[in-house]
Amino acid sequence: MAIEPYDQRDGFIWFNGALLPWRDAKLHVLSHGLHYGSGVFEGQRAYDGEIFKLTEHSQRLVNSGKILGFDIPYSAEEISQACRDALKANNLADAYVRPIAWRGSEQMGVAAQLTKVNLAVAVWFWGAYFDPEQRLKGIRLTMAEYRRPDPRTAPCKSKATGLYMICTIEKHRAEGMGYADALMLDWRGQIAEATGANIFFVRGDEIHTPTPDCFLDGITRRTVIGLAKERGWNVIERAIMPEEMANFEQCFLTGSAAEVTPVSEIGDYRFKVGDITKTLMDAYSAYVRPVKEHQPLAAAV
Ligand code: PMP
Repeated sequence: MAIEPYDQRDGFIWFNGALLPWRDAKLHVLSHGLHYGSGVFEGQRAYDGEIFKLTEHSQRLVNSGKILGFDIPYSAEEISQACRDALKANNLADAYVRPIAWRGSEQMGVAAQLTKVNLAVAVWFWGAYFDPEQRLKGIRLTMAEYRRPDPRTAPCKSKATGLYMICTIEKHRAEGMGYADALMLDWRGQIAEATGANIFFVRGDEIHTPTPDCFLDGITRRTVIGLAKERGWNVIERAIMPEEMANFEQCFLTGSAAEVTPVSEIGDYRFKVGDITKTLMDAYSAYVRPVKEHQPLAAAV
């Protein structure tokens, strides 16, 4: 699959306060973030020129940095403005927005007290995260071998670059076997999430999803829970064991990139793309747009 290399594109990248020509947004090879994983990032989508849940994403970025022990030298509001500026500079309305903060090259070694924290925001067009045709039929997942770590083992509430090491390994393993993604269990053997998205199951008119106590409580996850509750569906957050998948009829993933993506298969378990999944998929697509077609207009006064 030919992809235009990400360092060889036209456009602008917001880099420590300035909009740089895309190809000039470089960092030094001796960056702490590269060697020791001291980086945190976000991923959000713009729809019709507006970035969905921008404040929540900017705040999570600031908080992710704090969990790793550093302060990003920009407030959440300034980060949000940088995202809007980057979107505008690239003249995009529907796009993926990627802010990233990392420790620089002022000090090498595990200690990083002297490093400065950098911030960049890139924006590009990114269509469906999963193959659009497969997505409507439900994507196929395999079971991952690695597990989401115990909160005592890793800073699991930070969207930290280093935590994606096991995700990339598992995503590659899954793709190598013809699957779209992998389902990761957690350190206790409970269902956790996919490599870049949260997971939900449906039984009757009940929606079950794992309690996010050792993985990201996704912003999309929380949005979809809200949309489901608005429709009167019971959403149950609890520990879910893998054997329980035999009792669920539907399954879907949620994430800023993945949006709401139906799942048809996980290992030996099969799911159908049922009404609740389809309704939430459509409800989410409508809700993310600045003009919210599904909401009744406020009565004129
Ligand atoms: N888990 C992981 C590992 C992710 O990378 C993401 C995507 N950021 C999510 C869950 C979903 O989070 P969100 O809905 O906030 O994008």
